[in-house]
Amino acid sequence: MESVETVVVGAGLVGAAVAARLSGSLRVLEQGSQVASEASAQNAGMVRLLVEDPVERRLALRAHALLRELEEGWQVLPARITGAVHGLVHEAQELDDAVAALRASGHEVIALDLPDRVAPAMAGVHLKRAWYVPEARVADPHALATGLLAPLQGRGALRRGVRVTALQVHGGRVVGVDTDQGPLACDRVVLAAGAWSGQLAAPLGLRRPLYPIRRSLLLTTPHPLARPGHPWCWLEDLGLYVRPEGGGWLVSGCDERIDPPAPGPGSTGPVADGWRDEVGERLVQHLPALSEVGWTAGWTGLRTFAPDRRPILGPDPDLPGLHWAAGLGGYGLTSHLAVGEAVATWMEGGELSWLRRQDVSPGRIFPKRWVIRPRGTHHGGRLVEG
Ligand SMILES: Cc1cc2nc3c(=O)[nH]c(=O)nc-3n(C[C@H](O)[C@H](O)[C@H](O)COP(=O)(O)OP(=O)(O)OC[C@H]3O[C@@H](n4cnc5c(N)ncnc54)[C@H](O)[C@@H]3O)c2cc1C
Repeated sequence: MESVETVVVGAGLVGAAVAARLSGSLRVLEQGSQVASEASAQNAGMVRLLVEDPVERRLALRAHALLRELEEGWQVLPARITGAVHGLVHEAQELDDAVAALRASGHEVIALDLPDRVAPAMAGVHLKRAWYVPEARVADPHALATGLLAPLQGRGALRRGVRVTALQVHGGRVVGVDTDQGPLACDRVVLAAGAWSGQLAAPLGLRRPLYPIRRSLLLTTPHPLARPGHPWCWLEDLGLYVRPEGGGWLVSGCDERIDPPAPGPGSTGPVADGWRDEVGERLVQHLPALSEVGWTAGWTGLRTFAPDRRPILGPDPDLPGLHWAAGLGGYGLTSHLAVGEAVATWMEGGELSWLRRQDVSPGRIFPKRWVIRPRGTHHGGRLVEG
């Protein structure tokens, strides 16, 4: 039987970022015919720095530093600085901690009294508070993933169209994987399988709660304010964000619906009936400068969360040889470079100064009840048991 040291399951942004940092013999197995074609292709492209959760923030800040290093070596930049405006419609103080922490780490955050001076799309908006983060970026996920994977592809370490069907365990540790093209022996497996990660571990009796949650994105007709350098704008507590895309706006009403995928590639879905109208009404009411747009396209994709909305990273305490790089929710584009560094460092026996293992450990205690926001608004959340 063929044998390698490490198998990485999944060639999305996260699997690519981990694999790019690993030494030794390696195989990256991707069930799809293309890399980065699931959540990594479905996202809104926003690289966020103003983050409430402290663990997510550490990942975002470390990834920001790594992205800047990476950009120095790339001929075509995989990300560009646009800035971001974070507005609060109901709860003026909601982002105060995040603002203080970001400023304390040396990044600029500016309070805006007139947000449309920076972001003309916000003309006429009624906000309790608005914050501007000049360094926020928009990134090209496909360029990032293919750039990270290019050296591996050259070595023949990347295999597309190969689905891992089970993890092989012997003597209480991982010894390989079964695939739809035969078994492959290995000493360690990295689960970077996005929405499918939990399904692969469950048959081994590992309860690592990961919930794929579907979200919609809509594209509008061309609009004069949608210039590429316009900051992306997020009305946080309302659940509405917009960023320029292709001469129109990419818009989300931040909907959430738990929806585990079937085995095999293909997690992109259609937008639910009536949702375009609901998001359109939100635009009319809260971003009046965009009230005339029509819809040209839309899709849904899967963001995968643990109940505490923190990622599951690092060695599994109950199964030697299994390493996790999953549960990146709605911030995997922002944080994948930091995730790659963390998971690979721990696999090689190192430690990090910027992230504690216990905060993201697969074996941590997860809440049994947690909140999802079916319509994106911060009020009207729904408790989920699981
Ligand atoms: C609508 C939407 C908007 C988003 N917006 C943003 C944003 O603006 N900013 C941001 O930072 N993040 C955003 N995200 C989140 C971000 O896209 C994800 O966190 C990130 O892409 C996760 O990457 P991943 O590699 O873990 O998962 P994926 O990209 O899903 O990759 C997992 C890979 O594993 C493969 N795989 C699964 N099972 C198997 C198997 N058994 N065998 C072989 N291969 C397998 C899959 O085919 C897939 O290619 C958004 C996500 C969505 C859906």
